[in-house]
Amino acid sequence: MTIFNYEVDADGVAVISWDLPGASMNVMTEGGIAELDAAFDKALGDDAVKGIVLTSAKKDFAGGMDLNILGKARKAAEAAGRAPAEAVFEGVMRMHRLLRKIELAGMDFKTKKGGKPVVWASPGTAAGIGLELGLACHRRIVADNPKAKIGLPEILVGIFPGAGGTTRLARMLGVMGASPFLFEGKMMAPKAVKAAGVVDEIVPPEALMEAAKAWVSKASEADLVKPWDAKGYKMPGGAPYTPQGFQTMAGGIAMIHGRTQGVYPAAKALMSAIYEGAQVDFDTAIRIEARWMTSIMLNPTSAAMIRSLFLNKEALEKGAVRPKDVPDMRVKKLGVLGAGMMGAGIAYVSARAGIEVVLMDRDQAAADKGLATITGLLDDDVKKKRLTAEAKDAVLSRLTATPDYAALKGADLVVEAVFEDPGVKGEVTKQAEAELPEEAIFATNTSTLPISELAKASRDPERFIGIHFFSPVHRMMLVEIIKGEKTGDEAVAKALDFVRQLRKTPIVVNDARFFYANRCIIPYGGEAARMVAEGIEPVLIENAAKQLGFPLGPLQLGDETSIDLAEKIMRATKAALGDDYPENPGDDVVQVLFDAGRLGRKSKAGYFEYDENGKRTGLWRGLQEHFPLAKEQPDVTEVQHRLMLAQVLEAVKALEEGVLEDIREGDVGAILGWGFAPWSGGPFSWIDMLGADEVVRICDRLAQKHGPRFTAPKLLRDVAEAGESFYGRHEATKAA
Ligand code: NAD
Repeated sequence: MTIFNYEVDADGVAVISWDLPGASMNVMTEGGIAELDAAFDKALGDDAVKGIVLTSAKKDFAGGMDLNILGKARKAAEAAGRAPAEAVFEGVMRMHRLLRKIELAGMDFKTKKGGKPVVWASPGTAAGIGLELGLACHRRIVADNPKAKIGLPEILVGIFPGAGGTTRLARMLGVMGASPFLFEGKMMAPKAVKAAGVVDEIVPPEALMEAAKAWVSKASEADLVKPWDAKGYKMPGGAPYTPQGFQTMAGGIAMIHGRTQGVYPAAKALMSAIYEGAQVDFDTAIRIEARWMTSIMLNPTSAAMIRSLFLNKEALEKGAVRPKDVPDMRVKKLGVLGAGMMGAGIAYVSARAGIEVVLMDRDQAAADKGLATITGLLDDDVKKKRLTAEAKDAVLSRLTATPDYAALKGADLVVEAVFEDPGVKGEVTKQAEAELPEEAIFATNTSTLPISELAKASRDPERFIGIHFFSPVHRMMLVEIIKGEKTGDEAVAKALDFVRQLRKTPIVVNDARFFYANRCIIPYGGEAARMVAEGIEPVLIENAAKQLGFPLGPLQLGDETSIDLAEKIMRATKAALGDDYPENPGDDVVQVLFDAGRLGRKSKAGYFEYDENGKRTGLWRGLQEHFPLAKEQPDVTEVQHRLMLAQVLEAVKALEEGVLEDIREGDVGAILGWGFAPWSGGPFSWIDMLGADEVVRICDRLAQKHGPRFTAPKLLRDVAEAGESFYGRHEATKAA
């Protein structure tokens, strides 16, 4: 298989062009590394070759490393009876040697003479190893491609740029300059990376090769020496032992710890690699980077994050759970019923994705209100340069706002987002279906009503399904697809193809109270409210959650989603469950807030106090008049276990009851749906990380002290008793 094409032109320029067969985007594979290495050996060893251009035959340069390699290297080492750390370190160093070979390009290190110029010519997106390869070259030229994104997103999946990107970029730009790339994983447009000093030149796409070859022909020997290989190199912004560098480092370390709460080992390892590497020569720095990389690769957090946030997320987006035999069901014309908060959001993301949308409400004024919301979002896009004015007009031209059902003629999918009332929903279902072609699929965005019940209003429950978006629709990446009892494969395929058009991540679950995400998130808030009722210091509750890596503490989350919503859910659940409703003293806390009109952030009063601009100023101490603080406070770990297990046990029960069919969906859905501690990889990964038997022990302890809601579900006990893990079982089932 040829992955890197090799050609030498009449002027002696070797063009090494990346073209991974059968893929639309290049990713670095085992085979790719070996071929690229061989190609550089050939070019550097051939006297007829004067210089080298490294480019891509595809529209982009590369999407990154094939992250499966890393897991495979580890498994192979284990199978061969070798220490995994040794194998991983060796693999990382192999990349370093290749990139250093490119960088030195045959040069004599002492005299800095005899090297061949190497130019990186990137036509489009270059992520991770894609850009790291560029950083090793002597000149970086990129095409002026408006779709290109260039950067190092590794930190977002729990690792860091480990093929020299960390060391090279820190030395090129200094810690401050490199920080948006390294610590935030920012992907930027060509102009922005040029402004940051990462690339040297932007040229029109058609002039890319010409510009690269022109540079090769005029490059001098001095042009090939990287600043860090030249005498007297000083790190921009100062190395850590200089007064200025020390200040940056000390501040940076504190800031990173504050942001990550210490639960993301990759951020800390990245900082260490920069800090330690900056004090030694480049080749030693590279070894230091490789050692930190090895430590991160072997950390269960990184493996869990890569699995959930990269491999499994992508698998779900590409249709891992899509019914196989159903043909392409992409949506051409969408009807959205209800132009309120959710309906307008759904119409906005759909029209943005190129779908023709009819947005309906009870009267023209209500429909227009939805359209105005969308226009506001589009204006913001234009202001923030995410969209051009022409593109905004094109999006608007795809939208029709009307109260007239006849406008739905020819729609192939309808998403209903009217009031949360079965009567109203049933009525609009009937009216809409009267206008729709027979093969159309009807979806509801309900968050609490059973899909199988709502399906009774439909002419064809097989073509009826739940498509549950989260609020705000344009920001939340998860979409929960819910199958009713009678929902058929075509409806599932339609929903999945629609979500794919929107570039969001789907999970498919079965119909049960609160489906999956809300089922787990409601007990998180419920447990926190119960703790407040018990007199536990609210600051302790909030900080315990944040130190677990939750983006929002449960009380702040309560304020954000609103106290009246919590009260409404509480009331509705009580009505539905009757005597089976599990008493929760936390309900009294919600009631006190609700009765006091403290409805959360929207009313600038809730668990927290707010200033007139809506900024939180501290916790509302009035609550303690009703629920005095207990003299003895629990330790932070107990609070964390309660908050964690309130969610995790629901996830396990959802799997046990068949609401969830696949733990991958449970993990990805938890992180994207409600910000479940991303470092853990999700609730099932978290259990595996701790060990199911340890989780059972924690459950037993908590159940004894706090009641049966913490009793370990049978499935969890089974996994523990068999000495297994959830992912171990999943792999075994897949293999069978
Ligand atoms: P909303 O009150 O903002 O909007 C509902 C819209 O439906 C209003 O514009 C109303 O005029 C319209 N409507 C009511 N009856 C109608 C009828 N007979 N014909 C046409 N239009 C009608 O509510 P929302 O927050 O957008 O919620 C809509 C649905 O989405 C509900 O089922 C809700 O449970 C669900 N949902 C809400 C959220 C959320 O966070 N708000 C999240 C997920 C799902």
